[in-house]
Amino acid sequence: MKLISIVVPVYNEEVNIRHFYEAIRDVMEPLPYTFELVFVDDGSTDSSRSILRELEAQDERVQSIFLAKNSGHQLALTCGLDYADGDAVIMMDGDMQHPPELIPTFLAEWENGYEVVQTIRATTEGVSFIKKATSNLYYKLLNMISTVPIQPGGSDFRLMDRVAVRAFRRYREHARFIRGMVGAMGYRQKKITFVAPPRYAGVSKFSPKKMLNFAVDGILAYSTLPLRFGLYGGVICGFVSFCLFLHVLFVKYVENDAVPGWATILGCILFFGGFQLIILGILGEYIGRIFEETKARPLYLIARGKPKDEAGNGPSSVGARG
Ligand code: UDP
Ligand code: MG
Repeated sequence: MKLISIVVPVYNEEVNIRHFYEAIRDVMEPLPYTFELVFVDDGSTDSSRSILRELEAQDERVQSIFLAKNSGHQLALTCGLDYADGDAVIMMDGDMQHPPELIPTFLAEWENGYEVVQTIRATTEGVSFIKKATSNLYYKLLNMISTVPIQPGGSDFRLMDRVAVRAFRRYREHARFIRGMVGAMGYRQKKITFVAPPRYAGVSKFSPKKMLNFAVDGILAYSTLPLRFGLYGGVICGFVSFCLFLHVLFVKYVENDAVPGWATILGCILFFGGFQLIILGILGEYIGRIFEETKARPLYLIARGKPKDEAGNGPSSVGARG
């Protein structure tokens, strides 16, 4: 029988884990597949870990990996993908915002030959107007400047065939925007639209700061266009200054006058100073990322879980994956 892995990053989800586990069990048990439920605990500080241990003891299909610290949703997801053994891997959030009832549809499309089944959020119930509007605007901007198309409303609720998961494991960049990476990988991809319900319980674990970092990663990982702003700005400024220079010559030699204007000079200095600092800042963002990537540090560190008891593989293979 084919094995399906369900990978779930969790961070302080004590109020959701049991309910989520039961929902998955109810959906998966009637299906003609075996399954493993791989929880990746992303450094929870509530009782999530003890709940996961209890579930592991009570159901051997549950396996959990504990990360050494909070590494963020995208890296927790990456860890789960690295150690999922299934013929197909489904990744989803543990707060019921990714409805488990969609899993049979995923599997049907997978059996039809799609290597990736990707969901698109039509709407999220109970999400503020501001979050919706900024998200729409962000995807518009991203698509304008990015080299690969990125689906608005794309979510990290998807199925990937073993082949696509193996390919994905070879992408080891730190700053990751998984939906963009998977979209750019190719393969036969099926898109399914769904309405995300509100969280079952608890609050969102994405602080505005995490959201912003994620958004900036998306832009800088998929486009070098911001680097050109300096070039374009320079060309425009050069042209404007040339016209101004002609104006000064005209006033001096044709009108026999001098151009007054310390205010203009000060304005220009401040404008170009600001402009240059912005461009330096953009350069800094890219260089900072190069610095992070060249260190080639492990993406995440595991405190307990799958790799240790993996058949025949010692710590060296863990290092290679992590
Ligand atoms: N999550 C995580 N690490 C984090 C933040 C979130 O593993 O640093 C998990 C979280 O437990 C949940 C999923 O990622 O299972 C999605 O997070 P959340 O529901 O808070 O995001 P939202 O749905 O509000 O975008
Ligand atoms: Mg959520």
